[in-house]
Amino acid sequence: MTTALLGYGRISTGLVEKHVRDLEDLVHRCHCPRCGHGPKAAWTSASLTTADGCLGICDACANQEAIAEMCTGVVPPMAAWPTLQPRRRR
Ligand SMILES: [Zn+2]
Repeated sequence: MTTALLGYGRISTGLVEKHVRDLEDLVHRCHCPRCGHGPKAAWTSASLTTADGCLGICDACANQEAIAEMCTGVVPPMAAWPTLQPRRRR
């Protein structure tokens, strides 16, 4: 997962560590790590961002990744996932 996060652009080690903690927290709570949807016992699809498909995501996210890859030739990086974006101030 760290490799997938570092694979695109320049992200500081500290930010990668924070992203990994955030994603692990979502997975432990059985939420989709990409969009935060859930909870569900297990997701049947694997994210295309990891080379070995080790990270389960919800079907809607899997479809979005597949369509993006078909249209652009690349899978949007994990760092662009909605759950990893900074929270907006209210
Ligand atoms: Zn999702």
